[in-house]
Amino acid sequence: MPTFKVYKGSEDGYPKESTTTKPDELVGDNVLVKITASGICGTDLHHRQRDVVLGHEGVGIVEDVGPQVKYLKKGTRVAWGFVTGSCGHCLLCLQGEEVFCRERCIYGFHNVDQGSFGSHAVWSEAFLHVVPDSISDEDAAPLQCGGATSFTALEGVKPTDTVAIMGVGGLGHLSIQFANKLGCRVVVLSGTSSKREEALKLGAHKFISMADYKPEDFDDEWKINRLLIATSVLPKWEILLPMLAPKAIIYALSVSFANLEMPYMPFILDGISVKGSLVATRAVHREMLDFAAFHGIKPVVETFPLTAEGMKEAMDKLDSGKIHFKAVLVAK
Ligand SMILES: [Zn+2]
Ligand SMILES: [Zn+2]
Repeated sequence: MPTFKVYKGSEDGYPKESTTTKPDELVGDNVLVKITASGICGTDLHHRQRDVVLGHEGVGIVEDVGPQVKYLKKGTRVAWGFVTGSCGHCLLCLQGEEVFCRERCIYGFHNVDQGSFGSHAVWSEAFLHVVPDSISDEDAAPLQCGGATSFTALEGVKPTDTVAIMGVGGLGHLSIQFANKLGCRVVVLSGTSSKREEALKLGAHKFISMADYKPEDFDDEWKINRLLIATSVLPKWEILLPMLAPKAIIYALSVSFANLEMPYMPFILDGISVKGSLVATRAVHREMLDFAAFHGIKPVVETFPLTAEGMKEAMDKLDSGKIHFKAVLVAK
């Protein structure tokens, strides 16, 4: 081995088949994974025109292990996400905050000769997660990115908290399920009422369509302790801030390159915080997988073949907003 198939970004924005060759012998704690499924999300669209191998929500089977691999064995089902390495020695790594390590390896910038759009990849054992038996390959893939991100944004919530989720898409539909199973009151804030039924079915207790929202109808009982923004359109803060409870925490989860501008005084007077976060640390990632397995939390997925044609079709559907929750590529 190993020369394997990969799919890279290209000028026309659609992945092109290519190959990557790794050294014949696996070294250190490296693990060769045969890929069975990959999620596809906005971050892949962001890198689609770059000369890098795409895909960062991977699931597969261990095919071979390096000499220092301790826990994984041939045949183990594993998965990985956006972060695939860190120095292991700095204070952030020692504190379990390796996603912020200055030497972290992240999708699109490191290990760009491989990704989850391909037949195989070689990763450090330390950054692979065992997939619980009850989670299928296609359901496990989106959990590596959207699941990890949502679960991190819910860290520390209390069962007595009201969690508001803005947007019912890839991130939002997982956030609703996690918040419900964490015992919180879950309110969904959506641009229109079109996703009401789906949101309630996923575990929302209340659905507010912001298009016909009237502040006088908002019950103080539902004041929001944790707000997850899972849409690319930022909210109208002057409407939203009065819905928050004192000391509320706002997580902006979707990626935007715009400036975050908000009214200033409510932050001081009500002690509101805005938090940044990036997927999940490995510890939180593993807790998320266990939690999802135990509570039967699953993404709603539409599957496509893990081929260039499958990727093109999935990307076109993502572009045109036709994927309501998650697109997943599945190897035959
Ligand atoms: Zn992703
Ligand atoms: Zn480090």
